[in-house]
Amino acid sequence: MKHEYANCSFCGGKVVENKVKVDYRTTGDELVVFEDVPAGVCEQCGEKYYTAKVARALELMAKDKSLAGKVVSVPVKSFPESMAI
Ligand SMILES: [Zn+2]
Repeated sequence: MKHEYANCSFCGGKVVENKVKVDYRTTGDELVVFEDVPAGVCEQCGEKYYTAKVARALELMAKDKSLAGKVVSVPVKSFPESMAI
């Protein structure tokens, strides 16, 4: 069953349900990537919205060390100030 999402609170665009990839950062600063997460995505600006149930599930699953997944290493780059000027 699809959830009905309210219009985008940023641009007022139409929000439609989609399966998205989520980069979730835990409070311990650990990065967990989820795939196939049902979320409302704004057709105009791409902002993602999660239902309370999905948001809660992401939080629980991110903390659950027994849920095995693949581990990938990601480059972490510091953004140089000179690039913003
Ligand atoms: Zn939007």
